[in-house]
Amino acid sequence: MLVERTGTPDVMQLRDVPRPAPRAGQVLLRVEAVGVNFADVLNVAGQYLTAPKLPHIPGMELAGTVEALGEGVSGVQVGQRVAALGGTGGLAEYAAVPAAGLVPVPDSFTPAQAAAFPVSYMTAYHALKTLGRGEAGEWVLVQAAAGALGTASVQLAVALGMKVIALASTEEKLQIARDLGADVTILQDDPERVQKVREAAGGQGVPLLLEAVGGARFEESLKMVAPLGRIVFIGNASREEVSLNPAALMKRNISVTGLWLTSLMTDPRISAAAAQGLTPLIASGKVVPQVGPTYALADSPRAFQDMLDRKTTGKVIIEPQR
Ligand code: NDP
Repeated sequence: MLVERTGTPDVMQLRDVPRPAPRAGQVLLRVEAVGVNFADVLNVAGQYLTAPKLPHIPGMELAGTVEALGEGVSGVQVGQRVAALGGTGGLAEYAAVPAAGLVPVPDSFTPAQAAAFPVSYMTAYHALKTLGRGEAGEWVLVQAAAGALGTASVQLAVALGMKVIALASTEEKLQIARDLGADVTILQDDPERVQKVREAAGGQGVPLLLEAVGGARFEESLKMVAPLGRIVFIGNASREEVSLNPAALMKRNISVTGLWLTSLMTDPRISAAAAQGLTPLIASGKVVPQVGPTYALADSPRAFQDMLDRKTTGKVIIEPQR
């Protein structure tokens, strides 16, 4: 799927291009599943944190089998099942990706589960623990709780012993959050949502809030956290402008921290701590990637549009070999 100019998802075109050769430090993967992230959708639209190089093949999170190794790559073998992060080019039958971004895949994961795991679960871990400093027994509010990051956040928070308030746009989405163990679910357009969040968390609001929607809703988030509360700003899915008045933070001693997985991953100690925290939860079956709708490669524009239209739940997956 090639993008030659930014725009709506239909700018992606199915084209025949040569199979990439792995450069030094890269591996060639036969791509079995691609996890679509909101970041991919924003990237194609030209609205992401970094400008895309054109032309390019989207797809930053993928799972597949190692076909060939570039110069200087060790510690991985041809034929090994892996997931990969941090490159582009996933929306293709074959992709050359940085060996440094490879993630081992547990035997129990299907290719779709492997592709649904790295971005959402590592981001959720960093939001809840590394930056959010969440503790067992604490309340956390998760927005867009039935989405890819949302389901990962609910599942992980429950596994870490936290109490979850989930917000989402439909009753069906709230049911998904309840099925994953959310304690309290509230429609995000409920006129009494601020009051309901405060009451559910003991009257003053939640100590930790994961902000994924942003826009005008961010002002409400400030009212949903308790004094001394922490907001981890992960995303602005609304794509509306966000304003922040520091006086609102001062009055109730609230902190707001930004999170971008791409830059966090450049610190190997932080990545290793997340992997260490997640491994036992995967092994115990408490963390199971939530695979959402799956699409063939040619249907990638429809997959992206469905995400923009808020029709999807869990991680959207594209299967290039289908
Ligand atoms: P999701 O699968 O969660 O899809 C996005 C969800 O956002 C929708 O399902 C919808 O849920 C909600 N939403 C609210 N307003 C809008 C809107 N105007 N248009 C579209 N969706 C809207 O995607 P991801 O899990 O990939 O991402 C979720 C958020 O987390 C995004 O903001 C993304 O950028 C961010 N993110 C950031 C990362 C980082 O490193 N900082 C890493 C991963 C994700 P509902 O209908 O319930 O409101």
